[in-house]
Amino acid sequence: MSTQTMTDKLFTIRYKCDDVSHLAIKDEAVCARCAGKSCNSFCPAEVYSWDEAAKTNHVAYENCVECGTCRIACASDNVAWVYPKGGYGISYRFG
Ligand code: SF4
Ligand code: SF4
Repeated sequence: MSTQTMTDKLFTIRYKCDDVSHLAIKDEAVCARCAGKSCNSFCPAEVYSWDEAAKTNHVAYENCVECGTCRIACASDNVAWVYPKGGYGISYRFG
């Protein structure tokens, strides 16, 4: 049985990072009121991290693996998401 962790698997993809984020929080005030902040746990690449002092979600878009989860899993539909521009984003080494 494989003992690869999610972190190990994330090293099997290549990513060409754009200098413009393809992800954005629509309204930080909505995040501030959000009880679960589920984006901080459902994203497999740990893109979102809530900063309690700044009352904002940091969005490490350069880590995104384009799984699409945050397009549907934010109960407040508070994530603006587009595919990265052509030539940017992830490519898979296997498959
Ligand atoms: S992006 Fe959605 S799930 Fe994440 S903190 Fe904001 S409202 Fe909550
Ligand atoms: S598309 Fe997937 S990997 Fe990218 S930020 Fe959303 S949940 Fe995370």
